[in-house]
Amino acid sequence: MGDTKHTKVLIIGSGPAGYTAGVYASRAMLSPILVQGIEPGGQLTTTTEVENYPGFTEVQGPDLMVKMQEHAQAMGCEIIGDIITELDTSKRPFVAKGDSGTVYTADAVILATGARAKWLGLESEEKFKGFGVSACATCDGFFYRGQEIVVIGGGNTAVEEALFLTNFASKVTLIHRRDELRAEKILQNRLLKNEKIETLWFHELEEVVGTDMPLGVTGIKVKHTKTGEITEIPCAGVFVAIGHAPASELVVDVLETHNGGYVKVEAGTSKTSIPGIFAAGDLTDHVYRQAVTSAGMGCMAALDAERFIAEMED
Ligand code: FAD
Ligand code: NAP
Repeated sequence: MGDTKHTKVLIIGSGPAGYTAGVYASRAMLSPILVQGIEPGGQLTTTTEVENYPGFTEVQGPDLMVKMQEHAQAMGCEIIGDIITELDTSKRPFVAKGDSGTVYTADAVILATGARAKWLGLESEEKFKGFGVSACATCDGFFYRGQEIVVIGGGNTAVEEALFLTNFASKVTLIHRRDELRAEKILQNRLLKNEKIETLWFHELEEVVGTDMPLGVTGIKVKHTKTGEITEIPCAGVFVAIGHAPASELVVDVLETHNGGYVKVEAGTSKTSIPGIFAAGDLTDHVYRQAVTSAGMGCMAALDAERFIAEMED
């Protein structure tokens, strides 16, 4: 049996939303506890340069997240390395169970669990995950020095991953299902100028092919989206970068969600369908999904939680 810890505000998640909520809730003297989850620092720890966070012309994603953690800590936020496995929203105070065995009780909860990489759902993708198939170029790019790699997707992540992978690979092929990228123009320009990158339009990944002993990727089969023609492309690595889905599994059965599992908040606030439970960041946002918007929402959630607690204590 683990410990029980009570807090006025429990913040679940350690991305820009969680840490910003930590700064604001600490300065409101609410002595918040922040549980970091499996990815301390969140999605930005899986990238390199961040060039659009105000105040930093360029900063490494992991460095920015260390600074945010230090900031929250300096303001008095207690930061705990644990994963919340259950959240009981029917009790007051709310009860959250940690994977460590610790039980957290809280007067208000800020959900800032963000989003996770989506997969295509192919059997062969699953088979080679960790053995040539990856969703994180920063984590795995180094293993493909001098080899040919493919990246699937057409958004900011896919383009950034393709550009980053040219540091290691002899050639990167970006495969997209349309002939128009969703990525920002500045990234598109960099991609099109990079001689190591080839783009293959109107193609979808059909199958990852490779060897069993040892398990490893040797190529892919792609299908033309208009003609159905199958082409084989030799490669040692496949990076899937087709977007992110909200990490809402803790609350998907109890809170109102929309657009495929994003937690619904009252317009202009962080209030969810249960009073006292607030949500911020990518978990609630299927439109903007940026570090700065997530941080802004973390601020809103802490201010909303502060008001909720003040009214509760009246
Ligand atoms: P996340 O950053 O997703 O963090 C979620 C947190 O919740 C994690 O700490 C995780 O451990 C925690 N968590 C999840 N489940 C639990 C649980 N059960 N218990 C406890 N904790 C839990 N945006 C930009 O503005 N500029 C960029 O340059 C940029 N580059 C990017 C590059 C890549 C490769 C990716 C993937 C995204 C990028 N983004 C960028 C988007 C940006 O990272 C996200 O918008 C932002 O991180 C969302 O912040 P968040 O706080 O909502 O959640
Ligand atoms: P995204 O913008 O949702 O793009 C996903 C891409 O994958 C799209 O091009 C989409 O194709 C494609 N795709 C989706 N499902 C597919 C499937 N089943 N098969 C083939 N292709 C598929 O996701 P993201 O690039 O991960 O970005 C997520 C958020 O993070 C965005 O808001 C983005 O701005 C932000 N982000 C920002 C930066 C930055 O600011 N530098 C960097 C990375 C991420 P279609 O275009 O045809 O739909």
